[in-house]
Amino acid sequence: MTEYCAPLADMQFLLRERIDLEAIARLPGYEDVSLDLAQSVLEQSGRFASEVLSPLNRTGDVEGSRWQQGQVLTPNGFRQAYTRFIADGWNAMACPSQWGGQNQPRVLAALVEEMWHGANTAFALCPMLTRSAIDAIAHSGSPRLQHTYLPKLVSGEWTGTMNLTEPQAGSDLAAIRTRAVPAADGSYRLEGQKIFITYGEHDLSDNIIHLVLARTPDAPEGVKGISLFVVPKVRVGDDGLVGARNDVHCVSIEHKLGIHASPTCVMAFGHNGGAVGELVGEENRGLEYMFVMMNAARFAVGVQGIGIAERAYQRALAFARERIQGAEPGTRRRERVAIIRHPDVRRMLLLMKSQTEAMRALSIAVAAAVDLASGHADASERARHQAFAELMTPVTKGWCTETAVKIASLGIQIHGGMGFVEETGAAQHLRDARITPIYEGTTGIQANDLIGRKFARDGGHAVALVLEQMRTLARALAESSELRGAATVFSTAVEALASAIRYAIIHYANDIRAASAGAVPLLRLFGIVAGGAELLHSASLARKRLDATNPGAAETAFYVAKIATARFYVDHVLSQAQGLAHVVTAGAAAALDEGVF
Ligand SMILES: Cc1cc2nc3c(=O)[nH]c(=O)nc-3n(C[C@H](O)[C@H](O)[C@H](O)COP(=O)(O)OP(=O)(O)OC[C@H]3O[C@@H](n4cnc5c(N)ncnc54)[C@H](O)[C@@H]3O)c2cc1C
Repeated sequence: MTEYCAPLADMQFLLRERIDLEAIARLPGYEDVSLDLAQSVLEQSGRFASEVLSPLNRTGDVEGSRWQQGQVLTPNGFRQAYTRFIADGWNAMACPSQWGGQNQPRVLAALVEEMWHGANTAFALCPMLTRSAIDAIAHSGSPRLQHTYLPKLVSGEWTGTMNLTEPQAGSDLAAIRTRAVPAADGSYRLEGQKIFITYGEHDLSDNIIHLVLARTPDAPEGVKGISLFVVPKVRVGDDGLVGARNDVHCVSIEHKLGIHASPTCVMAFGHNGGAVGELVGEENRGLEYMFVMMNAARFAVGVQGIGIAERAYQRALAFARERIQGAEPGTRRRERVAIIRHPDVRRMLLLMKSQTEAMRALSIAVAAAVDLASGHADASERARHQAFAELMTPVTKGWCTETAVKIASLGIQIHGGMGFVEETGAAQHLRDARITPIYEGTTGIQANDLIGRKFARDGGHAVALVLEQMRTLARALAESSELRGAATVFSTAVEALASAIRYAIIHYANDIRAASAGAVPLLRLFGIVAGGAELLHSASLARKRLDATNPGAAETAFYVAKIATARFYVDHVLSQAQGLAHVVTAGAAAALDEGVF
């Protein structure tokens, strides 16, 4: 097996059984959404992913993007693929119709974006960042900014970037130094250097629209003095026509572990008199606006992890079916078998499959909440879905990306020595996945967000509702003879999570160092339990289908596998919950022991 193959059966199952797509179709703007339409979109995007993007994944990795005198050349085939990508309308899929987009719901867009990342994650980063730029301008930009930039960003003729990081300002954006000085014409002149800017320069589009964080001369210190600016690579007049080249240049690109085809740029602003920028919204509110972009991007990076995990699993499964090694344990036969017959290889494959499916189901639940939060007729329902989406964004980002790295590593293990050589492609998935827990806020930053803004700030109200839903699910599962055992393990895991959350909320107020020491294990615990809830919910839906209808052979096999996969997850993953809760509630003193370093 060589190319990526979209996991259509699982994606369609989630849309059909798990998500209330009819409720989403009742939201304003989504009237055309239907299961038939969604299935057809998934089939078409699956074809595009396998036929156009996947064949460029390995060649893009080997060739990489190249810097030449300030220009960046993407690998062979990327330009043509991007031209087809935007011509087929994929860039505009989840964008507002007001600006030429198709206004598809996030539930569908998240599944499609998972495919792009599964097929070719280095390519997919470019449209991912463009979408974040669209979100920020649509949400906070003036009518002029919106009219000037949104139609071309939505169509994909222009692409977007996110310029936050500077050498001294990574996780700590308060340290940003790039300056923005007001000019007489109402615009600003920006000066400074940004590093690690994804697709900061490239040859896929005529213009690149940079969203840049900078400080005005009399801005207050810290995060309260950061403003957001639009700085186009080529300036755009009121008539929408492109004019002079702006004073923003890519001075080099990084040589890095993975995502070789995605250029990671050092950007110089204002080396020749100042880069012309336009303020987004009001001065000093830049970080607040950027958070709109960052939350969408954080969720999208979680989805990136799921896409890579799925691809790593597909490759490992194909290899395990072909590679012949050793005799099957427990049989008298002496003939050599495919390694998929070895119990330990099956265990590793199931770890890959079950966690990938758990992550996908969780991400789709979050995406549905984002849709319902923006358009539900009832304000209290909007608030409920918004609280859930905000709560689960750091979990989706942190847990799905950390787990993707482990899954990609298991993929190498299944390949044995061949996994360690580049030829099989398994190593690329680990190299590509490794960045995902780092950018858009490291896992440590996601975990701080979770315990601080998401748990402590509202006194645990939002998370208490989620825990209650989990308990209700556990009671329902206990009614099923098939899932009763799983329900017991799940219930224990939910209570372990509840005790860890209680500890975090209390200590966040009294002893923040103790709460912080367990924040990442707590995020992981939350991910494991929330993913488990989704998988068990899916298993119960699969059982209902098997009992109520007479499905065909393929459907029966899918439902039976769904139940078996959930049961595996319960024993091999969910069972870790108590250990993780112990780390959170008892591990701080050892982690903070000053005598060690
Ligand atoms: C390939 C690539 C692409 C990127 N793309 C972009 C982009 O398009 N735009 C952009 O603006 N940036 C981009 N970045 C930058 C990226 O977002 C940062 O690297 C990331 O935010 C971490 O910052 P840092 O590298 O300075 O690490 P640091 O902030 O120095 O962190 C180092 C370590 O300390 C920990 N740490 C730091 N502060 C805390 C804290 N308060 N609590 C707990 N732990 C903490 C971190 O978790 C980490 O483990 C990219 C980076 C890479 C490598």
